[in-house]
Amino acid sequence: MPPAARALVEQAIDVICRERKLDPVGSMPIDEMQARPSLPVQTAEAQSGLTRAQKVLPVAKNLVIAAIRQLAAEYGFQKSSRYQGRIDQAIDRVQEVKRIRPDMDSRDNASVYLSRPHTITFGTIFLAGLRSDEGMISVLAHELMHIADGNSDNLRALVAAVSNRASLLTGMDIRGQRAEELTCDFVGAMAVSAYVADSPSYESITRRLARSVEHNCVDVDEGDEDHLSPRNTIRALLAIHPMLVRDLINTRQ
Ligand SMILES: [Zn+2]
Repeated sequence: MPPAARALVEQAIDVICRERKLDPVGSMPIDEMQARPSLPVQTAEAQSGLTRAQKVLPVAKNLVIAAIRQLAAEYGFQKSSRYQGRIDQAIDRVQEVKRIRPDMDSRDNASVYLSRPHTITFGTIFLAGLRSDEGMISVLAHELMHIADGNSDNLRALVAAVSNRASLLTGMDIRGQRAEELTCDFVGAMAVSAYVADSPSYESITRRLARSVEHNCVDVDEGDEDHLSPRNTIRALLAIHPMLVRDLINTRQ
């Protein structure tokens, strides 16, 4: 990545994490979520997160389907009729998701059990920590992308294309589960960009866009075998989403 582009990415990260602090409904960073005690399902905080998740699930599904189609076109997968079949099946799986199951024990995680393909299980701390529609759509889109990929990694080629591009641009080692997690985050960021463009609001565009990734604005920046560190996740996402970088920097108020 040229130094000038790299500098813009770092500038955009500063914008995102600054907006998060100023935003009354900014998402809680995941390291702060991890430090919280478990939150019973019946608390007002968890219930309002659950209501929000259920409200935006239909729009998140549509945005994920559009993002998958867009990626397939951008990376040239539409030309292969075999791959087109896989994309159609992936879209069917996304369509089938009907409910959010709040779960105290899942804490700050959301997950999909592929034995229960119609349900996204959502930790109550996570539900409570995503306090905007944009923040919630981003995480729902992430989980929906796991569902789209399915039991046997049907979208493997798409995941490889996205993660190879991110590796190439950032020099980070993004393979295996890390590649899938990053691609799911990318679909989340794409979904929010499209949502912000389609739904005018009095709120600033920068602030709304920042919500797609700001839960990664951690102080304790640790990754693991399956995930890049949260701040490297933002870095990799912005490297492959230059339009988001431009929008974040140019619309800053
Ligand atoms: Zn994931």
